Amino acid sequence: MHFNLLRVGLISAGMIAVAATATASQSTTMGTEYQQMPSYSGQDLELIANSTSTRWRLWSPMASAAQVLLYDTDRNTAPTDTIDMTRADHGTWTAMVDRGLYGKFYTFRIKHDGRWLDETPGVWTKAVGTNGRRAAIIDMSATDPHGWSADRGPELKHLTDAIIYEMHHRDFSISPTSGIVNKGKFLALTEHDTKSPDGLSTGIDHLKELGVTHVHILPSYDYTSVDEANLATPQYNWGYDPQNYNAPEGSYSTNPADPSTRISEMKRMVKALHDAGIGVVMDVVYNHTALGDGSNFSLTAPGYYYRHREDGSYSDASGCGNETASERQQMRDFIINSVRYWAKEYHIDGFRFDLMAIHDTETMNQVAAALKQINPSAFVYGEGWTAGDSPLPTAQRALKDNVWMMPGVAVFSDDIRDAVKGHYSDAADRGFATGKPGNEETVKIGIAGATDHPQLDWTKANNSKKPYAIAPTQVINYVSYHDDLMLTDKLRHSMTRPEENDSVRQRAARLAQTIVFTSQGTPFMWCGEEIFRDKKGVHNSYKSPDSINAIDWHLKAENAAQMEYYKQLIALRKAHPAFRMTTAKDVARHLVFDKTNVPNLISYSLRDHANGDEWKEIKVIFNGSDQTRHISIPKADWTVVAEDGRINANGLASSHGGRMEVAPLSALILARTK
Ligand code: CA
Repeated sequence: MHFNLLRVGLISAGMIAVAATATASQSTTMGTEYQQMPSYSGQDLELIANSTSTRWRLWSPMASAAQVLLYDTDRNTAPTDTIDMTRADHGTWTAMVDRGLYGKFYTFRIKHDGRWLDETPGVWTKAVGTNGRRAAIIDMSATDPHGWSADRGPELKHLTDAIIYEMHHRDFSISPTSGIVNKGKFLALTEHDTKSPDGLSTGIDHLKELGVTHVHILPSYDYTSVDEANLATPQYNWGYDPQNYNAPEGSYSTNPADPSTRISEMKRMVKALHDAGIGVVMDVVYNHTALGDGSNFSLTAPGYYYRHREDGSYSDASGCGNETASERQQMRDFIINSVRYWAKEYHIDGFRFDLMAIHDTETMNQVAAALKQINPSAFVYGEGWTAGDSPLPTAQRALKDNVWMMPGVAVFSDDIRDAVKGHYSDAADRGFATGKPGNEETVKIGIAGATDHPQLDWTKANNSKKPYAIAPTQVINYVSYHDDLMLTDKLRHSMTRPEENDSVRQRAARLAQTIVFTSQGTPFMWCGEEIFRDKKGVHNSYKSPDSINAIDWHLKAENAAQMEYYKQLIALRKAHPAFRMTTAKDVARHLVFDKTNVPNLISYSLRDHANGDEWKEIKVIFNGSDQTRHISIPKADWTVVAEDGRINANGLASSHGGRMEVAPLSALILARTK
């Protein structure tokens, strides 16, 4: 996801090595001196403003002095006033003025070890000007779009009912072929009736047509890498370089210099998606900051928010130069309160935690609980790994293999991901869906939602060696996301025989996604896969130009059959709760694998009206080989739902069972009502 390949390179394989070495240096590097500092749990950090008074409260326990500097503009001007802050309780400093200051800007400055540090907008600023350097004093209620108080995201009983579409604002709308006016902006997702050059829907209408329930937007808090003062020059970044956690990114707004604009436009985006029945998941990156010594954390409480090595240097489980310390009270509260803030102020429906295992399980449990209190439909999932070693003991990390300790949290399944399409770090490696034998058991583990299913042999598993999910609601299934080669590119790099053209690769893509979307757990896809877009073979496109990252909407007409397949696949999942079981017990009882003993062939049934399904039995067969296979289906009145690269939730044909063909690189799905 980021600045260096280390970040993605160490992921799954690294977890095991990390486990063995994590205990040696803990006692000295867990920051005992920081643990003992007073924390402040009040909700009035850093600014409380109205039209008649303005109050500040900065948490900065090590400071010997602190000031507020007032400004008329967001940059390039001298302060109009400097206010000395007064030491207050629980490590805080306060200041106030008896007048409203809407429209003004401010920074904090603290004296530490005898010298004044650089100015900072603080860690809690909710509104910022250009490039997030100064905090803004605005009337937040004026940023609400019309009808905001009645705005709600979609109701979700279980996370497995969600179908998640991961997207980057710029990828989605920046191409001229999008037909969208506000290209690369939050507002792009508010535009209806936008069309591709071939007259097909794009933007939010496309999402509705596809049928996904949630979009997962890549980092949309204020990040560092894109220069907001220079937006006429095309710039691209994924945004895994956090600067201000509680304000939106300025480059996605139409006017980064006006602090209210980015806020109101992001809210309008959320509302438009909600009005379309689509929830919004935000990618959050509390695990590290773009800067170390120069970050807002360091400029308000030097050292406190980070973990360190014994020599005092930043430890680096993020692979990005530092890692935060969620086990410390003020950092833990920061994460929880920040998530609460986005859920309440912006109506965000879900949170995806980047490198979640850098955080401790207790923090993640508190995040999940706090979120449920605000919105019972809201949810949390994350990457259950780190990108390097951490002083945090393995047993406390929010790792995939520790998710049993976090009942309200879900993790990405790298098991199904790599088993279906081949290993993420080896472009040429094939997987189950591209003809490589040996991955069958790991794919089956994915199908069963990584739960404890009696027919699974975990000794044959590629990654995790034991059932890690206590319920399928704890697993996110996917074969492709923003990291690594996206599915189209992966297939082009691994399917290289003369006969393996794009038409064959599209069959493999359909098979791969059919496995994901029929598996127990929550399906997740990357934007543009439904129209077979690619990123020109770039693994780590975090700062690649639009020519790599932008979706070319011409592809929607070119690959219309692919789009239709995805639509039907999503419709099938939505119509049938059998694919969305919520307990391990149900999965163990209703999901029965058939013995095939044929490489790249998996067959299973969802039996006895699983999860209340109207269908008595669903038979699912995946053939990942380039040969036609035959399989014996019990005699009954079956409806053929998927066959030979086609799918229709309402049925393609009828069958009485018996010996049936399963075409190469395809799924055969049959259903019967009695
Ligand atoms: Ca920014």
